[in-house]
Amino acid sequence: MNTAKRRTVIAGNWKMNFTPSEAKAFIEEIKPMVAGKDNCDIVFCAPFVSIAAAMEAAKGSNIKIGAENVHFEDHGAFTGEVSAKMLKEIGVEYVLVGHSERRQYFGETDETVNLRTKAALAAGMKVILCLGEVKEQRLSGITDEVVGMQTKLDLAGISVEDLKNVIIAYEPVWAIGTGLTATPEQAEETCAVIRRVVASLYGDDAAEAMTIQYGGSMNDKNAAELLAKTNVDGGLIGGASLVAEKFTAIVDAAQ
Ligand code: PEP
Repeated sequence: MNTAKRRTVIAGNWKMNFTPSEAKAFIEEIKPMVAGKDNCDIVFCAPFVSIAAAMEAAKGSNIKIGAENVHFEDHGAFTGEVSAKMLKEIGVEYVLVGHSERRQYFGETDETVNLRTKAALAAGMKVILCLGEVKEQRLSGITDEVVGMQTKLDLAGISVEDLKNVIIAYEPVWAIGTGLTATPEQAEETCAVIRRVVASLYGDDAAEAMTIQYGGSMNDKNAAELLAKTNVDGGLIGGASLVAEKFTAIVDAAQ
């Protein structure tokens, strides 16, 4: 991990877990465990209804709370959606965009991922932009092309200035929630590919400054090896973000 040039970010994705009271209890439990661990940013992305309770519990700590999705319009006839303006008003700093579960189950495309990213950035939030190949693509040897194309499409029209508020989470879809983890070498190689594509679009300085996380069954056992890689600047963590000891061990691995 190249901490000299970029900030390490350890982010949890709670998915559809933790009611408001459970979110509050979890943050209260983990707050003292990660206190003073300032070599990385610590973020938990919560279900919409649990954001306020998590934010309240996190007050005065080094924990930041994010959302798991955002719509691209400000307001209007989009039943069930939540806008960037709404999230911003309650103090949300981070938002996940393009998670593979959104792409797989809710019809998210690179075009809508791009629109959502732009809306969140325009509202002044930081985006954790998720992308990655499915198993068949890796087995066919086209991972680099797939993540390269996603990077280009998902960042289309985003300025170099706004790019400073974008974190890319490289998440091989075959590794998410499966217990299968990319090897540190695979994570390093593909994060480096993404960084090269960012460099081709925005220049070397912008690419070197960008935080690129790995996600996909990262846990307390494998985090140190993954985070030791030069191009892996943090983690996006699902399952292990629901267990305070496991998540804290990942934060420790990033120190
Ligand atoms: C995720 O939800 O982004 C994720 C990486 O999940 P898990 O850590 O459970 O594989």
